Amino acid sequence: MTVVPSALDNDSCDTAIRASILHFVADPDKSGDACEYFDDGLLILKQGRVQMLVEASEWLDLLPDGSQLYDYSGRLVMPGFIDTHTHYPQAEIIASYGLQLLDWLEQYTFPTEKKFAEREYADRVAGFFCEQMMRNGTTTSAVFATIHPESVDAIFEQARDRDLCLVAGKVMMDRNAPEYLRDTAESSYRDSSQLIDRWHLQGRGYYAVTPRFAPCSSPAQLEVCGQLLQEHPDLYLQSHVAENYDEVRWVAELFPDSRSYLDVYDRYGLLRERAVFAHCLHMDDEDRATMAGKGGAAAFCPTSNLFLGSGLFDLPAMRAAGIRCGLGTDVGGGTSLSLLATASEAYKVLHLQEHALPATRALYLATLGAAEALYLDDKIGNFEPGKEADFVVLDYEGSPLTARRTAAAGSIEEKLFALMTLADDRNVASTWVLGDEALS
Ligand SMILES: [Zn+2]
Repeated sequence: MTVVPSALDNDSCDTAIRASILHFVADPDKSGDACEYFDDGLLILKQGRVQMLVEASEWLDLLPDGSQLYDYSGRLVMPGFIDTHTHYPQAEIIASYGLQLLDWLEQYTFPTEKKFAEREYADRVAGFFCEQMMRNGTTTSAVFATIHPESVDAIFEQARDRDLCLVAGKVMMDRNAPEYLRDTAESSYRDSSQLIDRWHLQGRGYYAVTPRFAPCSSPAQLEVCGQLLQEHPDLYLQSHVAENYDEVRWVAELFPDSRSYLDVYDRYGLLRERAVFAHCLHMDDEDRATMAGKGGAAAFCPTSNLFLGSGLFDLPAMRAAGIRCGLGTDVGGGTSLSLLATASEAYKVLHLQEHALPATRALYLATLGAAEALYLDDKIGNFEPGKEADFVVLDYEGSPLTARRTAAAGSIEEKLFALMTLADDRNVASTWVLGDEALS
């Protein structure tokens, strides 16, 4: 896949990273050669983009004078993790006790999201959230703000200041929510339009039309969502679908003409390419076929699904249907901002359904698979030449336990699986964004 020049000059390299390097060039479900691993690799960068990925032994001596070499030998470099679904305002209600989805929203989420009417508060939490992303090796996130436009400005500004790639939008909610958190169809159209003008396709920012979920939006507001997408066809859409049985029953009562929960979104033109739906737990084959056909993507959020007792994501069925899938942390229903911890819980969710999830497939879902789900795989997700150089440096020795366990591993697959299962932010040695070390 790499076009190899006969020599390197200053035009093709300003920075080189030496490490064990792993990435995916294809979907491991479809290709036996999807995972590329260099035990002693060299990632060559120029102006924040990948030039090539090669064997260090063959290319180290060819680096031009003046280029910066960062030697992470013994550590593992991977593409920056991509979180396909999370809520930055809920960073401070993570790990709230004892409730399932609808009560959890009422008791914990809504009172917290009320605070984001205040811009200064939103700035503080947005900054904290971006720092936590980088601490966990995440360089791209698809994020819900709150209904307040200020909360959207806050997260886009904080991400922009750190060069992070961000998909985000203003939550739309005009019914079945407390008065203090309701907009209207008209105001949500007006506010979203202004935010689209301000943030969509600005740098690494992408705007997502963000109805919280079907029960909280009137038919008029769902129509507005469809209208925004028609007016700006390259926008994203993000929402939730089929997370919890009580929720699914409620949607059936609210939308009696729809065949299924997913069908509600489809009827308003919201199921499409660049539409990401969190959870997708209680869906049938017809839903899956429709979703695949329309190009919608699923965010698999295992820590949230287990924590809120929502159900088990059927990854094999989703993949067999041809649906794009990525991992999502879904904080604060989810219990970790780490995509490694999320991958580990994904493994357990699959195990409960008598499947397995090799580390390579799980890590694909956190990198290239997630980039494909977000239709950003022409820019991020792996180390193909020309891609934006976002990556994480993982330290096998970040904790005494991971040091001992990975040292005892007999193969790279075993080592990756142990790391994925045991890692936390101590194992993130540094995070690089657009070819610059952003956190170490
Ligand atoms: Zn969510």
